[in-house]
Amino acid sequence: MKIISTIKELKTALNNKGEIGLVPTMGALHLGHKSLIEKSVSQNKITVVSVFVNPTQFGINEDFDKYPRTLESDADICKALGVDYIFAPSANEMYDDEKNTTLICPSYYDVDKLCGKSRVGHFDGVATVVGKLFNIVRPNRAYFGKKDAQQLFIIQKMVSNLNFDVEIIPCPIVREKDGLAMSSRNIYLSPEARIEALKISQTLFKIKEMFNQGINDLKTLTDAVFALLDSEKIEYFEIVQSNSFQIYENIDIIKPNSIALIALKIENVRLIDNIDL
Ligand code: AMP
Repeated sequence: MKIISTIKELKTALNNKGEIGLVPTMGALHLGHKSLIEKSVSQNKITVVSVFVNPTQFGINEDFDKYPRTLESDADICKALGVDYIFAPSANEMYDDEKNTTLICPSYYDVDKLCGKSRVGHFDGVATVVGKLFNIVRPNRAYFGKKDAQQLFIIQKMVSNLNFDVEIIPCPIVREKDGLAMSSRNIYLSPEARIEALKISQTLFKIKEMFNQGINDLKTLTDAVFALLDSEKIEYFEIVQSNSFQIYENIDIIKPNSIALIALKIENVRLIDNIDL
């Protein structure tokens, strides 16, 4: 396995090597990332894992500076999983001007709702870096976790709208034994916050249970969420149609093929999770 930090070297290394799988990450790899990597290794001749804490997807008051950077241990994990290349560029390598230019993500991508509402510009940065990675790596397949459901939807939309020649492979959410969705940000949690964080998945499991029992009106489901979680910490709870990411409103009846999503801020750590209904 080789760690490559320049676009030129990566392109040369990948030339005529056969089918390529790409797993874009920001590093601090955990079992969630591992599941994506394993899938790529099993489905492609070559697997590239990008490790890049992308500055353009962080807002000014967000955790870009303190985001965990653990390239050495990430490399050990990738090597053990059979990854061929880690692409770990600098910000200057990816963005050749000081302003870290982003594409403008059109609003019909719905970038200004759910996570995009509080994280203004976030999905513009995500779409930009993923688009750049697709053009650099030219993967046959790219692997994204359903943990970041809105991100996955936006990438799928970008690929279809811009005719990128890549198959997007959605991967299931990997959870801790007790249900907490794995995230590189979980290491920020104090023991007390970790206990509170667990309520997110427990609430989503409860919503799914209620839905499976035939409770399908938005108000009852929303009331249940606000009863189970500390409402002051909820950034949003929404249910969307999975094929359009259209948010159900007010008196809507929730249909199958929907996703319930929660964002919660505990001790300044922003956590997201979701569940298919
Ligand atoms: P990140 O490093 O957080 O940008 O995540 C890189 C990729 O891993 C994204 O496609 C995420 O959706 C995915 N991912 C992160 N956490 C999980 C998880 N718990 N289960 C499945 N995929 C995940």
